[in-house]
Amino acid sequence: MEKVRICPVCGREVTDRNRKYCCEECSKKGYIRNQIKRNKERDQRLKEEKEKRAGRQKRESSLQELARKAREAGMTYGQYVAMDYARIRRE
Ligand SMILES: [Zn+2]
Repeated sequence: MEKVRICPVCGREVTDRNRKYCCEECSKKGYIRNQIKRNKERDQRLKEEKEKRAGRQKRESSLQELARKAREAGMTYGQYVAMDYARIRRE
């Protein structure tokens, strides 16, 4: 039984069983297409990882900063945040 391969670029039958594409031109197009797809997926993944990391760091550092400021002012974190919020509203 022989399976008929279909060229993923132009949809024509691929006669050479060792090839994925029907011709050299489609092979090139298919390769470029794969590269673009792979690059997009990689960029997306990198972007998501970066955002995740940045978000976590930012949240942690601002919380730590607030906690430190509250300690320095001799207040609890809740008191300090309430005071800070009131000050911002006045400005
Ligand atoms: Zn083709």
